[in-house]
Amino acid sequence: MISPLRLFRQQRRRKLLEHRLISESTWFSALGGLPIFRFLNADERERLRQLATLFVHEKIFEPAGGMVLDDRVRVRIAALACLPILNLDFDWYRGWQTVVVYPGGFIRPRSEFDDIGVMHEWEDVLTGESWERGPVILSWADVQGSGHCEGYNVVIHEMAHKLDMLNGTADGFPNLHPGMSRRAWTEVFTAAFEDFNARVDREEDTPIDPYAAEEPGEFFAVLSEYFFELPDLVRAEYPAVYGLLAQFYRQDPAARLDSSSTADPFHGGKGRPTQESPQVRHHPVREAPADNISGDDHGRFENDQR
Ligand SMILES: [Zn+2]
Repeated sequence: MISPLRLFRQQRRRKLLEHRLISESTWFSALGGLPIFRFLNADERERLRQLATLFVHEKIFEPAGGMVLDDRVRVRIAALACLPILNLDFDWYRGWQTVVVYPGGFIRPRSEFDDIGVMHEWEDVLTGESWERGPVILSWADVQGSGHCEGYNVVIHEMAHKLDMLNGTADGFPNLHPGMSRRAWTEVFTAAFEDFNARVDREEDTPIDPYAAEEPGEFFAVLSEYFFELPDLVRAEYPAVYGLLAQFYRQDPAARLDSSSTADPFHGGKGRPTQESPQVRHHPVREAPADNISGDDHGRFENDQR
């Protein structure tokens, strides 16, 4: 039986979508130029617009550092944020409310004691950050650099952390759907992570951002970015990881590219991003989820909490 609270939430969302759906003009102007949305079919685009409407209304957007927030900014962030949950449910983003937006990279003071007890202090300039049960923080400049099918997507990266942190720390082990094997997830991701770390250690010029080698939570978040931005690349590099991400997100973006025959609604043309096309590789200083900043005892694609 459905709980009264859930029923109330469903009714409220239904009303919101009936009366306050993001207008067509705002939707098109916010998304118009982004290749990542080109291959969605009409149903998917409409569902994304509904999810983005819920995101805009249920999350609190806070400007910081002189950022000016308008509908175009909110809707662009919401659309990118909702792509990972296109075939899930908006409740996957429960438990947190706030999206803080800076105009560009934001500074985080850091400190660490070294082996002989001397404290070192420095500042990192971050592009995004996710706090467990807390806000998501984004650099608008990097949001604008996301969604170009180049492998970089700060919004999807942070949302992947949010999905991962629904069952605790960002350990690369989100809640899996019924029927998915926890063991397969742990084994496949651990093998891929170890392989990727070995490649980074021998200074291979990996097509995937070496930041993925930082820790399991980052591997999951970075591979999620590539899964949506350059799905062919993930499928070629780590096919078993691709398969599990497709099961988790309930999407198959590579197949979407393969089968896409509809005209691009934004550009009147079609075409798939290929690895031959010029790619601008972004190498921003990335973040670390707040609870993962120090220590190295993070889970490795496994979770005992459920
Ligand atoms: Zn991260």
